[in-house]
Amino acid sequence: MDLPFEPYRIKVVEKIQRVSREERVRHLREAGYNVFKVPSEAIYVDLLTDSGTSAMSDQQWAAMMTADEAYACSTSYADFENTIRDIFGYKHVIPTHQGRAAEGLLFSVAVAAGAVIPNNIHFDTTRANVEHVGGIALDCVADAGLDPMLEAPFKGDMSLTKLAAAFEKYGTERIPFVMLTITNNSGGGQPVSMGNAREVSAFCKKMGVPLIFDACRFAENAWFIQQREEGYADMDIKSICREMFALGEGCTMSAKKDALVNIGGFVCINDDELAMNITNLGILREGFPTYGGMAGRDLAAVAQGLREVMDPDYLAYRIGQVARLGKRLDELGVPYLRPTGGHAVYLDARKALPHIPQEEFPAQVFTAALYLEGGVRGVEIGSLMFDHLDPDTGETVHPAMELVRLAIPRRVYTHTQLDYVAEVCAQVMEMGDRLRGLEIVWEPPALRHFTAKLKPVGGGKMVAEA
Ligand SMILES: *Cc1c(COP(=O)(O)O)cnc(C)c1O
Repeated sequence: MDLPFEPYRIKVVEKIQRVSREERVRHLREAGYNVFKVPSEAIYVDLLTDSGTSAMSDQQWAAMMTADEAYACSTSYADFENTIRDIFGYKHVIPTHQGRAAEGLLFSVAVAAGAVIPNNIHFDTTRANVEHVGGIALDCVADAGLDPMLEAPFKGDMSLTKLAAAFEKYGTERIPFVMLTITNNSGGGQPVSMGNAREVSAFCKKMGVPLIFDACRFAENAWFIQQREEGYADMDIKSICREMFALGEGCTMSAKKDALVNIGGFVCINDDELAMNITNLGILREGFPTYGGMAGRDLAAVAQGLREVMDPDYLAYRIGQVARLGKRLDELGVPYLRPTGGHAVYLDARKALPHIPQEEFPAQVFTAALYLEGGVRGVEIGSLMFDHLDPDTGETVHPAMELVRLAIPRRVYTHTQLDYVAEVCAQVMEMGDRLRGLEIVWEPPALRHFTAKLKPVGGGKMVAEA
């Protein structure tokens, strides 16, 4: 049988429901065709994000119950620190309430105004935190990672040519460290190979600049290395993780991804002085260094989650479930970016709805239609999110791609529910040119995709009568 088998059985369930089509029409209209504003109890399958949406295990809940809430030096912090040291191998472990807080602390102490931070592709919050302290966030992913139809094993790899060019252009003095995001979230959750990480690390050593990992999906990345990279088939996941992290000098981590918890994060660093500065600033912003914005029970859940996430049975099922959704979409003729990544499938809305011009937000139309047809929530990654004005001409520039991301929460949905999602995608494809474009009614000055209100172009219904 060709199914990714769940390496668990279900002990607690949460009721969800498919509200009626009339109710979905009403919710969509009230939300201004923006699914961020649809109440979660009216959503059947929620694929808005894989961040903080994992189902915790009985062991994690048990660990939360027996956690130590002491303000300083709790046993839960000791467990947290030991577990992280064991996997990541770095000297200092500093807890934060989530990933962006880890970035904020590290960049505040290590990135000066005018500094340049190369990365394969910066995640939104990483870029924003670099820019917040006056730095320049530079993307250096290899060209393969920018070609949506190319089937390749490691599309998260960094281009050594682009990296070297950055050092050439800005000079080593302006580059305090280099980052590598594993897996490359903003590039479709594509993995970075050990070979590439090794080359990037060697280059950084040559330049005398540390390499820092954005480690949010480190276990998913390690699984891809084990499956796809020569020489790693017989190595266990933890050894692959250790080999990877030994190539760097520290990491930032959102525990809301591969630590299988709903909130948490940390920053690790080898350098004593940087660690001291991060810790001092952390006391100001996050909390005492042995809890850093988390409760003792949160620390305990992270420690247990990190031990669970490296289970090869879990990873085979996890990545297999995402790949299987891709396979179902292939069978139904729904176009998406190739290959499926570790945590999400990205539908290609320009291909799916070629009659809707980018001015009318095709990916947002597809996203709204997924909710309308099946109560499924994805997220638009297209012109609603990325349109910007050309500083010279003042004209609107659209992004190259119009995508709908379906991010799969960990250990949450069944194969049946994801098969259902694939069917709903196919149904939206079939609606074809009966679907009309959207126009903006109201938008805030920045980050409009979260709160913008839209309506069908010219008014009336989003779906034209057959
Ligand atoms: C989610 C994420 C972050 C930020 O973490 P939060 O916990 O959401 O603050 C940083 N980098 C990557 C690659 C991420 O996926």
